[in-house]
Amino acid sequence: MISLKTEDEIELLRESNLLVGKTLGELAKWIKPGITTKSLDKIAEEFIRDHGAVPTFKGFPNQYGTPFPTSICTSINEQVVHGIPNNLLLKEGDIVSVDCGTYINGFCGDSAYTFCVGEVRDEVRNLLKTTKEALYIGIQSAVIGKRIGDIGHAIQQYCESKLYGVVREFVGHGIGKEMHEEPQVPNYGKCGEGVLLKNGLCIAIEPMITQGARQVVMERDGWAVRTKDGSNAAHFEHSIAIKAGKADILSSFKFIEEVLGDNAI
Ligand code: MG
Ligand code: MG
Repeated sequence: MISLKTEDEIELLRESNLLVGKTLGELAKWIKPGITTKSLDKIAEEFIRDHGAVPTFKGFPNQYGTPFPTSICTSINEQVVHGIPNNLLLKEGDIVSVDCGTYINGFCGDSAYTFCVGEVRDEVRNLLKTTKEALYIGIQSAVIGKRIGDIGHAIQQYCESKLYGVVREFVGHGIGKEMHEEPQVPNYGKCGEGVLLKNGLCIAIEPMITQGARQVVMERDGWAVRTKDGSNAAHFEHSIAIKAGKADILSSFKFIEEVLGDNAI
């Protein structure tokens, strides 16, 4: 069942999502060659708890009921999503997708950003740029009267026109009191198909885009998902509300971009 949110509920969702944005902004200060993703996880968890919130990812069960062990997902290079932070050092030229979720005042926040570690090759930067642009193209399609399929179609068409792969196995979702609510929000689709977009619908839109083929495989830890062909992948995510007929972005990359300045994607 799809729950449409009241304006008051949307403001609570905004609060949780802004905290995710601030957490990602805090991490942006630290993402450099030589830091471990485990350190990033510690920084994120402390930041979230210091703000009176709970990291929603920690303990979140996968399909086998295994709880996710950390507060953020860190997916490096060919990893697409759900990478578990570890003790390996990030190195110059890597990319790391950081996905973060918070829970405060009864509502969830969810947003993700792919960061460059030091200088990365232009072709990799272009993948990130296209994925981020695709997110905003999807958001622009999220207007009243259109359908979920219109969002996915816009993202798919843009990314495939640049010969990138669009991951099918993982999708965006409704967001509210639960991190994952209905409806599913695929990054592919047909115009005019799927759930009708109405005021009060709150969804996370999250293109996962690959430099090569779109096929993915799960790693042996039962969480991390990587490209089958080993090509790089990027992931950008905003949570939005449909309000007054169009998308109101509840999460924010402003805090990241303030830190990265001219180096932002
Ligand atoms: Mg997320
Ligand atoms: Mg999400």
